[in-house]
Amino acid sequence: MSIKHLTNAAIVQFMKRIEGVVMRPGDADFDQARRVWNGMIDKTPALIARCASVDDVKAVVEFARAHELLVAVRGGGHSVAGHGTCDDGLVIDLSCMRTVQVDPDERLAVVQPGLNWGGLDRATQAHALAVTGGIVSSTGVAGLTLGGGIGWLMRKHGLTADNLLSADLVTAEGQLLHASAEQNAELFWGLQRGGGNFGIVTEFRFRLHPVGPIVLAGWVLYPQEKAPEVLRFYRDYAATAPNELTTIVILRRLPHLPKLPPFLRGMPVIGIAVCYAGVIEAGERAVQPLRAFRPPLVDGIGLKPYVTHQTMFDAAQPPGRRNYWKTAYLSELSDVAIDVIVGAARQMPSPLSVLSVYQLGGAARLGDAAFCVNAAAAWTGRTESHRNINWTREFWAAIEPRSATGAYVNFLGEEGRERTRSAYRESYDRLLALKNTHDPGNFFRLNQNIEPTV
Ligand SMILES: Cc1cc2nc3c(=O)[nH]c(=O)nc-3n(C[C@H](O)[C@H](O)[C@H](O)COP(=O)(O)OP(=O)(O)OC[C@H]3O[C@@H](n4cnc5c(N)ncnc54)[C@H](O)[C@@H]3O)c2cc1C
Repeated sequence: MSIKHLTNAAIVQFMKRIEGVVMRPGDADFDQARRVWNGMIDKTPALIARCASVDDVKAVVEFARAHELLVAVRGGGHSVAGHGTCDDGLVIDLSCMRTVQVDPDERLAVVQPGLNWGGLDRATQAHALAVTGGIVSSTGVAGLTLGGGIGWLMRKHGLTADNLLSADLVTAEGQLLHASAEQNAELFWGLQRGGGNFGIVTEFRFRLHPVGPIVLAGWVLYPQEKAPEVLRFYRDYAATAPNELTTIVILRRLPHLPKLPPFLRGMPVIGIAVCYAGVIEAGERAVQPLRAFRPPLVDGIGLKPYVTHQTMFDAAQPPGRRNYWKTAYLSELSDVAIDVIVGAARQMPSPLSVLSVYQLGGAARLGDAAFCVNAAAAWTGRTESHRNINWTREFWAAIEPRSATGAYVNFLGEEGRERTRSAYRESYDRLLALKNTHDPGNFFRLNQNIEPTV
């Protein structure tokens, strides 16, 4: 139902109940507050409720239910599909709830849902601890965790969601529930893969691991014309890499950043980026083949604070650009898959786009996938949209027949019911049973949605 049927008096009454801020179109900060990371998403909600407390979240849910409003839930606002906002509905914006408490003795972090990875990494690294997190520091902890969470520590310490010890959430009924392996265990399992389908998480508890604070990390770059050779070498290298080592291959044109030597600016490259989550001497041995295979154009692997490595790609992924992504799992880097990846990189229309291959395996278990590929088209001008979206779709059409089953839900766009269903793979029926129990009215529908069947 549209919000237009609401009277001004009802909205004013609602605003009085909320400790945080409620914004409407025309308010001073509204235009800024309605924006999300992906500049393609240009939606205008009727209300944005920036919650300050769990009571606020409950009150907003009650209000939205009573008035049958469309609801979007926003943590860090990085959903490429734009699920953190909507037209005409109510955005439950959690960005002001961002406290974090770290207990170094128990190795755990208690985190509110508006925190981003930069904030969580800084807090945990003050104690040389960390949990697997996103590789761009502005990304929200909440959305990333609820879709799995892949990052530099995953092959050693598992996905982010694997390190979740418990979550508190406000359900569609406005009830606060605690979920863990001991309490509401089935719901807890669902939260670790099912996105925001079951409720609004108001507190995450994470298990932490000793990491850094100095790690061996960075990347080696080669000219992109060597990509077929680099990827064939990489395939063998990745197959024997220890679990402490997580790698991501990146094909792109280098940005025109002043910190780069002029000859590198704008150059098409293939990079193998790494992070070693273990003893540094062993890490040096593990990365040695990257240096020995052929002299890299740039050898940027060295000792650095983990928090610095976690911001390595920040400058390349700023908010506001237009983005369109397509993703697939691969069970192997076959010669055909390599040809598709190299061909797509050569055809990339925008210098801002990136093709990435994430190495899974070890403790990073996502079905039978060994790699996750993501074609992330990024551009600025509206007139460029068609060309860039087509490039991404053509890549996907070529790689999809070679892909493993499922897809990484956090990289999906708005891709339709069948694709969402197949992304959840064999978990779908179990997730659906949970959805039917906890949200039969599909109150939480702006996500990679599991449509209830009751
Ligand atoms: C620049 C960039 C880098 C990325 N890097 C990585 C990466 O390294 N690893 C990785 O795994 N993914 C990565 N992603 C994907 C990322 O995991 C998803 O975009 C994720 O949804 C972002 O979470 P968010 O809280 O910022 O998003 P939002 O847009 O705020 O939310 C996304 C979804 O999560 C739900 N949600 C948000 N908060 C809550 C809550 N508290 N309770 C219940 N549901 C909630 C929303 O309903 C929505 O469906 C990246 C994305 C971007 C744009």
